[in-house]
Amino acid sequence: MTTAAAAILDRWTVTRNACKLCTPLGACLAFKGIGNCLAFLHGSQGCSTYIRRYMISHFKEPIDIACSNFSEHTAVFGGGSELHRGLDNIVRQYDPAVIGIMTTCLSETIGEDVGSLVKAYREARPDLAAALVHVSTPSYRGTHAEGFHDAVRAVAEQLAEPGGGRGEHLNVLPGMLSPADLRYLKELFADFGVEAILLPDYSETLDGGPWDRYEAIPSGGTPLAAIRRMGTARATLELGHVLAGREQSAGKSLRDRHQVPLHAMGLPIGIVETDRLCRTIEALVGRPLPARHVADRQRLVDAYADGHKYVSGKRAVVFGEEDFACALALFLHEIGIQPVVVASGGRTGLLEESLAELRAARGTDLTVAGDVDFLTMAELAKSARADLVVGNSKGYKLSGELGIPLVRVGFPVHDRFGASRLLHVGYRGAQQLFDRIVNTIIARSQESDEIGYSYI
Ligand code: SF4
Repeated sequence: MTTAAAAILDRWTVTRNACKLCTPLGACLAFKGIGNCLAFLHGSQGCSTYIRRYMISHFKEPIDIACSNFSEHTAVFGGGSELHRGLDNIVRQYDPAVIGIMTTCLSETIGEDVGSLVKAYREARPDLAAALVHVSTPSYRGTHAEGFHDAVRAVAEQLAEPGGGRGEHLNVLPGMLSPADLRYLKELFADFGVEAILLPDYSETLDGGPWDRYEAIPSGGTPLAAIRRMGTARATLELGHVLAGREQSAGKSLRDRHQVPLHAMGLPIGIVETDRLCRTIEALVGRPLPARHVADRQRLVDAYADGHKYVSGKRAVVFGEEDFACALALFLHEIGIQPVVVASGGRTGLLEESLAELRAARGTDLTVAGDVDFLTMAELAKSARADLVVGNSKGYKLSGELGIPLVRVGFPVHDRFGASRLLHVGYRGAQQLFDRIVNTIIARSQESDEIGYSYI
């Protein structure tokens, strides 16, 4: 963290408008990307209601989350019997292939040993068909991003199986992206002619079509059978600069337990990072980048040339989940916009490290701050002379205070329509982001121009 950010944080001992979300919310998002899986929250009903409400507002899809519904009695004496009864109800009502069990602040605080409770449940029901995965997700220990990554790791650790040999398929751990991003990645790997097991894959479960008849669990998601085969993949591609620095991840677990070679890299936002991903796939499958992606890249380079005069030298405040903020900062730098504040509520301490090269190049004109809230961010941004804010819709107030526009990206986007279809990754995602940013800057200049103009 830079000195400016540290000085502000020193004055405060509380979080004021947090720039992070609840940890099991992230885990729930990961479980929504597993085929025929139901998320189960071991804790109070209010937590599951909050998570459902929050996710529905972004994805505009029904979100079922089961809950053991802690009462005063459970909070004092433990909720083992509620957990077992809840699992029985889920198996009877939903017949899921997988049940993803998460904890809350309350169940963690009273010291529930969920691992033992799940083991006891499984042992008492030898004919249980559903696979049970559990993950510890107290919100006071991390953010929604940690909940997401820990859930993905738990799934890989608890469900991937060893095999006799190595297959041709690849594991792809995409991180917290939009359904449109996941669809794009699936297309990219399909165009390369290689089977990719994407974990998680909520591209359909959280952005599907209308139903002819009610589906208890929306179709789509990574099938359990595919997850079982992740231990025999040719390689794993794990996306996220910050994730790469974490001690534990699903990719590292697959490497250490099943000897699956790991290729870690940043989120593929912008040309540099998408090139890195595509070069890795080319090397793994022995085939060149398919023609339509070459054409996408050429169009993007042409757009950068056409639009550089609008963006060059502009200054931006970037915030969000650590990996996303890091990738966006690198993308903005690539297109000629100077990130002046890059901030996140994540407190891994790895955001600063992941942007070390950019920080070295930009010196004191760039403040990188992890573990900050929106009020600290506003204080940092006030003297930064920024032209725009890039982040999720929680930055609406910040952009109003600074009097500059907000380009909405990532999660959550609660005050605009179509959040699931925001594309960020790959050459096509960079094209969409670039067009939106250029047009935001043009619109701002047009609105604030005294004479006005009608074409550029
Ligand atoms: S109490 Fe904890 S787990 Fe529950 S909603 Fe709040 S932050 Fe999330």
